[in-house]
Amino acid sequence: MNIPAIAIHGGSGTITFNPEDSELKKQYLNALNNALAEGFGMLTKGYSARESVCKAVTILEDCDLFNAGKGSVFTAKGRHEMDAAIMDGSTLKAGAVAGLRGVKNPVLVAYDLLLHTPLVMIAGEQAIEYARQKDFKFESDSYFYTQLRHDQWQQLKGNSEMKLDHSGEGAKFGTVGAVAVDADGNVAAATSTGGMTNKTWGRVGDSPLIGAGTYANNKTCAISCTGHGEYFIRGVVAYDVSCLMEYAGMSLKQATDMVIHQKLQKMEGEGGLIAVDPLGNISMPFNTEGMYRGMKNKTDSFTQIL
Ligand code: ASP
Repeated sequence: MNIPAIAIHGGSGTITFNPEDSELKKQYLNALNNALAEGFGMLTKGYSARESVCKAVTILEDCDLFNAGKGSVFTAKGRHEMDAAIMDGSTLKAGAVAGLRGVKNPVLVAYDLLLHTPLVMIAGEQAIEYARQKDFKFESDSYFYTQLRHDQWQQLKGNSEMKLDHSGEGAKFGTVGAVAVDADGNVAAATSTGGMTNKTWGRVGDSPLIGAGTYANNKTCAISCTGHGEYFIRGVVAYDVSCLMEYAGMSLKQATDMVIHQKLQKMEGEGGLIAVDPLGNISMPFNTEGMYRGMKNKTDSFTQIL
């Protein structure tokens, strides 16, 4: 048993910058290290897994390198529509939001739902209204703007293609997530995203859907996914990992490897996930070229891209 422990991701996909000598790589790894340090720091001070994953995701939302909160991708209409979810494995309570515009930290609204309402998921205009009534921080469009995401959108604008991210410097990366187990052995997961570049018609991906992109259950594990959301929804990926552990008796590694490298691969779905079980085991498989990721417990700590 090696608890508490935390793992985070900053998206999965193809890398087109030279990952060995890039200044950008350093920036990404620093950002991941910051989030890990904060999240793990909370766990060691006795905060719960759900508080710690919420904090780690908030930090990543505030960093414009990632496709979540500040730095979210552009929709086909040139807007930022953000999705987020959080789940507590000790109570199976969850909160999720979809299609939020202008809200600085979507994961905080999701967490508020978990804490203070019987609801699990709210979406669109009324979800924005909820965030306003609850006094969550709003920002103008310029806060969310980054040249990189704008360029990615310009490349796709006008055609019907929707991309995980883009194909210039920085590559297909960006959705953020965290999973943790606290000192009491409770697990939690949180995920936040701007979705896919050029998305249309109020498209919602897997990230805010409990069981698809986010799931936590003390009986099994906590999971946050990243990748082409439609495949993760159809594969019910996060819950599938949990089911393989609960009903087929698989270990965390066996279950996560089977879902990412066999099931998802067969469907031709691209992506990866991070997962932790109540004993502190961590698994971070992906079937893409890379996945921004990192983990920290009392004895180990690392961040990695490829
Ligand atoms: N899974 C996210 C979505 O489909 C995208 C990502 O992970 O980059 O909305």
